[in-house]
Amino acid sequence: MEWVFDGGRPCLDLVNTLRSRHDDGVELLTGPDALAEWLARAGFTTGPMPVTAGNVLAAKALREAIDRVLREPEEMDVDLVNNAAAAAPAPPPRLVLADGRLRREVPAPKDPVASAFAALAADAIDLATGEAAVRICAADDCGLRFCDASPRRNRQWCSMSRCGNRAKARAHYARASARED
Ligand SMILES: [Zn+2]
Repeated sequence: MEWVFDGGRPCLDLVNTLRSRHDDGVELLTGPDALAEWLARAGFTTGPMPVTAGNVLAAKALREAIDRVLREPEEMDVDLVNNAAAAAPAPPPRLVLADGRLRREVPAPKDPVASAFAALAADAIDLATGEAAVRICAADDCGLRFCDASPRRNRQWCSMSRCGNRAKARAHYARASARED
């Protein structure tokens, strides 16, 4: 099983690092290297990240809290998300004046991993209180979460290429064989 980045939001892509949630689940955050790779692929870092085993545990705890907050929120999960968001707020941007021109510069965070978690938690806070709907893919063998921002909020599949086309093919096949009966 591979990383998927079809959630439409970084916090949902994190939730989807546990694949096959409809079943027993397949863990993709298998260790520090896997988490470092995910953070890089998700765009949180450009250089090597000092990821520890503790970070992996924290990522999984945040991930599960985010998933529950977006479905059946409880106080404990809300606290965990809030704490992650507050742990490493993004450093404020600053102006740099060089050769008479202004440039915007964002200082590198002191702890890039905690800073990534904070951004993910902040994204979950926005999503949980925003207009978009969070859905679970309609394919019964998928379990991926995605953000439905379609105008009628009627998107069914995590992605057309992974699940949508399979479902269409199945429906077509079922119709064709029903005609034959
Ligand atoms: Zn799917």
